[in-house]
This record gives sequence, structure tokens and C-alpha cells, in this order.
Amino acid sequence: MSSQTSPGHHVVVIVGGGAAGLSVAAGLLRAHADLDVAVIEPSDDHYYQPGWTLVGGGAMSAEQTRHPEQDHMPEKATWIKDAVTSFEPAHNQVTLGSGKAVEYKYLVVAAGLQLDWDSIAGLSDTLGANGVTSNYRFDLAPYTWQLTQAFSGGNALFTQPPMPIKCAGAPQKAMYLSADHWRRKGISANVHFYNQGAAMFGVPAYAKALDKVVADYGINTHFGHNLVAVDGPAKTAIFETADGKTERSFDMLHVVPGQSAPDFIKRSPLSGDAGWVTVDKHSLRHTDYPNIYGLGDCTNTPNAKTAAAVRRQFPVVVSALLHDLGHGGDGELYDGYGACPLTTENGKVMLAEFRYDGEIVPSFPLDPRVPRAVYWHMKRSLFPWLYWNVILNGKDWKKPTYKPRPDLLS
Ligand SMILES: Cc1cc2nc3c(=O)[nH]c(=O)nc-3n(C[C@H](O)[C@H](O)[C@H](O)COP(=O)(O)OP(=O)(O)OC[C@H]3O[C@@H](n4cnc5c(N)ncnc54)[C@H](O)[C@@H]3O)c2cc1C
Repeated sequence: MSSQTSPGHHVVVIVGGGAAGLSVAAGLLRAHADLDVAVIEPSDDHYYQPGWTLVGGGAMSAEQTRHPEQDHMPEKATWIKDAVTSFEPAHNQVTLGSGKAVEYKYLVVAAGLQLDWDSIAGLSDTLGANGVTSNYRFDLAPYTWQLTQAFSGGNALFTQPPMPIKCAGAPQKAMYLSADHWRRKGISANVHFYNQGAAMFGVPAYAKALDKVVADYGINTHFGHNLVAVDGPAKTAIFETADGKTERSFDMLHVVPGQSAPDFIKRSPLSGDAGWVTVDKHSLRHTDYPNIYGLGDCTNTPNAKTAAAVRRQFPVVVSALLHDLGHGGDGELYDGYGACPLTTENGKVMLAEFRYDGEIVPSFPLDPRVPRAVYWHMKRSLFPWLYWNVILNGKDWKKPTYKPRPDLLS
């Protein structure tokens, strides 16, 4: 890592060194090694979050999902190891936790989203104990697998909060992997899915296919149910519904908390009504500040918040910045691509791919609603490899090859 200019000013400043931030930094420096790029990232560790579903299902170790941030920070980027606390776009600067200011010519906001654990009363007191777990935390995903293995029958509850959340399929992926384990072991489990929404998935064709998966397992679905309180020692969960509150007892509870834009973004001039960074959904340029871009989970774009989306977003931001800086850039636009590899059982995945407006765009000439072993192998081996070695290295290895399938729309 270098520091070509004073630490207080850089040509491109990137907030967040997660999937989105590192891929943009690496992509810019691949194109122009002498660009002055700084990444502001407080964490020593970088997580491959899509792997946490597999950790919870006993198909990957937690340590496989964690690498030192340093190993993936581009060599020529300046790493500012701090957290941004505020944005001052009128002065082209951000302020850090240390109190220092960093000025920029161009800013990229890629700070991910915030998990609102405390919005569920009693949850933080019991997470990781009393049978209460969540694959949404690195340290808790192994507990999901521990609970699944120790489960000897009874009520297993899996919850899904209001949208948007990152990887909207992850709440049910956890459920299928546990249900599959119990089925294989002959353990009789009452599995319940409590979903604040009205369907198994936001894209109707995939929702229909998932209804069949649910029916096959004999899972009980409860739509319009939002988890609002947990009592760990008493093993009860309280849900809010249109008809009031309802209480359920559990032997195992897998929780996915509500999610929102990070507080420091919510209270900044960069955010819109719902608190997310407001960018144009195709160019990813801020709607009010033309020298600011946003990508990844922290923006208001109506795509699925996934690493798969980042894979198609980062080349757009890299190309736009290169153009702004007078280095070319091909004017690429983001089409809303996102993907969700739904682990319907240990050994099979339904590879849901789609773009804006729920348009189904499979990368392979196969019916994407069918769970397949080949996609499981991709999820377990190929996708993590691509993440660590290709996406984080800012390599745009190919343009999309997917073809829309309007025949699958309903
Ligand atoms: C359980 C689970 C399963 C998932 N499954 C899949 C899947 O199968 N497929 C898929 O494509 N996606 C999946 N995802 C989603 C995927 O991980 C995210 O969409 C992706 O990581 C988003 O990238 P990002 O860079 O926007 O955010 P992140 O990768 O979360 O990175 C945000 C970064 O910003 C940093 N940051 C935060 N605050 C500040 C601050 N104040 N200042 C500076 N830096 C800050 C953080 O430390 C972090 O490094 C899953 C996620 C989870 C939790």
C-alpha cells in the first residue's frame, strides 16, 4: 500500500472495504496503477458472507469465510483504517472517527447495511444461547449447525423480517438445510417459517417453485408475521400481525433481523427518505452530487442486495470514474442483475437470477426453477473462489451472457 499524497486528500476516496469497495478500488488500479485511491475501512477482517449459509448448514467452516482485510486491499491503494462518521459533500470531504477529515475529488460510498438486532426486544440478550441463532453473524452461524445437529424434535422457527434485507433468500436457505438434515436423520420436526412478507420470494416464478420445496418438507408458512420480541429462557417468540400479537414457543429459533442503511448514512445529506444513499439505478451516480457514486447494499437501487449484484455494479462505477477522470470508460450501465443461490437441500441449489422488474435472466440454458447438484458445487466451491480471486481483484471477467426468459414470468 502506498500514500502518494497527504493522508487528508485523495483523488478517489472509497468508504467501505467490503465486496463493493474493494472491487472498485482494485478495478480502478488495474486500469490505472498510478491513480490516487484511498479506501476507508475500520475492520481487520474481510468476510465472505454468502458462505455463512453453508456454515449454518455444516457445509463450510466459519474460518473459510474470513480473510485478513490486508490480504485483499489493493497494493497501490491507501488504506485508511478508520470509520467515516459524517459526510460534507458541499466541501468534498468526509470526517473520520478520529476526528480527521479526508478530502476527495470523487467519492464512492460502499459501506454495506446495518443489522438492527435491537429492534427485536430481548434478542440481543439471548442470541447464541437458549436455542436462538442467526446465520447473519460470523460468530453465530456455527451455532446454527450446532443446534441443528443437537435438535431431537419439537418446534423449529425460522423468521424473515420486512424487506429490504441482504440476500432475501438467506432466511429460507437456513431453514431448508436444517430441515434436510432432520429429514435425513429421521427426526420429526415441526418447522415453521414466519415471514413478514406475503410470498416465499419477490419474483413470482421462483416463489411458485419454492412453494413446492416448502410443501415437500411439510413446512408450515405464516405470512404477515413480523418477529418483535424473544424471551430466550422461556423459549417464546412474539410476532406482530395485522390482527395483533401472537406468541409461539420454540426449541430452536433462527432469526434474521430487520436491516437498514447505516446510521451515519441515514443522517447524512447523501440519503433519501428511507435512509439509503440515493443514486440513479443505472449509472449508480448520486442524484444530487455528480462526483459521488454508491453501490452495494447501502444504496436505494431496487435490486436484490447481493454480492452477485456487486459483481455487475462495480464495473459500472469503475468505468464511470475512469470516464470522469479522463481515462476512457465505456459508459456501461447497471441492469439490476442479482442472484440468489437457494440451498434447497444439502447437495442442491436453485440458482435464481433476475434483474430489474423481476425479469428472469438465467446464465445457463436450463430451467432455473429446478434445484440442481451442479449449482450446489458452484455455490460451495466456484462462487467463493470467484469472490476472493476475481471480484475482489476488480476483474470484470465477462459481460453477462444471460438471456431473458419472459416465458417464466408467472
Ligand atoms: C447470511 C448471508 C448470506 C448471503 N448470501 C448471499 C449469496 O448467496 N449470494 C450473494 O450474492 N450475496 C449474499 N449475501 C449478501 C452479500 O454478502 C452482500 O450483498 C455483499 O457483501 C454486499 O457488499 P457491500 O460491499 O455492499 O457490503 P459489505 O460486504 O457488508 O461491506 C461493507 C463494508 O463497509 C465497512 N463499513 C461499515 N461502516 C463503515 C464506516 N462507517 N466507515 C467505513 N467503512 C465502513 C464494513 O466494515 C464492511 O467492510 C449474503 C449475506 C448474508 C449475511
